[in-house]
Amino acid sequence: MSSDDRGQTQDNGPNDRERERDREQDGGSDPPGMDPGVIECNWDEIIEHFDDMGLTEDLLRGIYAYGFERPSAIQQRAIMPCCKGYDVIAQAQSGTGKTATFAISILQQIDITLMQCQALVLAPTRELAQQIQKVIIALGDYMKAKCHACIGGTSVADDSARCKAGVHVVVGTPGRVNDMISRRALDPRKIKMFVLDEADEMLSRGFKDQIYDVFKLLPNKDLQVVLLSATMPAEVLEVTTKFMREPIRILVKKEELTLEGIKQFYVSVEREEWKLDTLCDLYETLTITQAVIFCNTRRKVDWLAGKMKSRDFTVSMMHGDMDQKERDVIMKEFRSGSSRVLITTDLLARGIDVQQVSLVINYDIPTNRESYIHRIGRGGRFGRKGVAINFVTEEHKRMMHDIEQFYSTVVDEMPMNVADLI
Ligand code: ADP
Repeated sequence: MSSDDRGQTQDNGPNDRERERDREQDGGSDPPGMDPGVIECNWDEIIEHFDDMGLTEDLLRGIYAYGFERPSAIQQRAIMPCCKGYDVIAQAQSGTGKTATFAISILQQIDITLMQCQALVLAPTRELAQQIQKVIIALGDYMKAKCHACIGGTSVADDSARCKAGVHVVVGTPGRVNDMISRRALDPRKIKMFVLDEADEMLSRGFKDQIYDVFKLLPNKDLQVVLLSATMPAEVLEVTTKFMREPIRILVKKEELTLEGIKQFYVSVEREEWKLDTLCDLYETLTITQAVIFCNTRRKVDWLAGKMKSRDFTVSMMHGDMDQKERDVIMKEFRSGSSRVLITTDLLARGIDVQQVSLVINYDIPTNRESYIHRIGRGGRFGRKGVAINFVTEEHKRMMHDIEQFYSTVVDEMPMNVADLI
């Protein structure tokens, strides 16, 4: 980590943006050795009911009131070691309940009578941080847990005031969190739990130094570190040894890490120019429930949304160049279902959970293999069925094939009755 990088983190808003830009426009293939490997599991205790986890009554009420009846596979395995204070690396497919895993573990461990930040969660995008905050608030409703989202693109003064007023949990993007601690608005002394969601992304490329910077600001010698991710490249795992102590590693098996439950299809479009017509032909299918359409660059998102609108199709769009207020409105509309088709970049490929999304379209095939599993994971959340459709030009056939091989999966040609599968 260079001292230059450290200096930059003071100016958190644009810095977060830069990271987003990296993600959205990363056109390169994976660096050598960056296979989305799997961790080796060293924990086998499974607890099948929330009631048997020794959780506080108010937390249990919150969990049931939120609509959960039984813990998911990762929750059955990971909540207990987290609550016991171990460092934990938990790897499970996207949409399997990792957010609630750490949310519950945090809520179980905080002392509600102490109005100071006791758990810090970092996430790679602002939207994801906001989503996590909402889950923590909802699950902690009966406990009256206070959770604040520290994200770039919002007023620094407001954030400072909220942090100073006292919160139990902070969820944020690295730049703004760093800023809040550096300004002494957020007191790190009582933080005993440090959670990295989408850990592989957080610990790779541009983010890594920022994470270290935050880590260095946390003085607690017994800091518990929890990492969650759907993919865990060996190189990233290596990095974790620097700040985790004999972590419990929990893995949901490789088979489950694939794209099970999501039907994947391709549509051959000989030429790039014909993709637009293909998409318009599919529009009715898109609106059966809700759909996310991924393009590889922001410019393409702008272009495609413009074209669709000029043909009188209703679509929304979102990418990292847009103003945060605008992004918030778009997300709200999409979550509420008032907008049904969202065109976006990889900014939204990770973690975002909208239950009704059952269709994902790769208007462009992702250039990064790991993005594929994250994008596709937006559909078919929590065991619901999902369909993914890839638009494949001659030029990109090889990439599609590469993805199939990499994930040991089969992508069939899209059938006529695809609408029946949604
Ligand atoms: P991940 O973080 O693994 O991508 P999420 O935590 O976003 O997944 O969970 C995906 C969806 O499953 C969310 O809508 C969440 O509310 C739901 N979910 C999580 N755990 C449970 C559970 N135990 N019972 C029912 N639904 C759950």
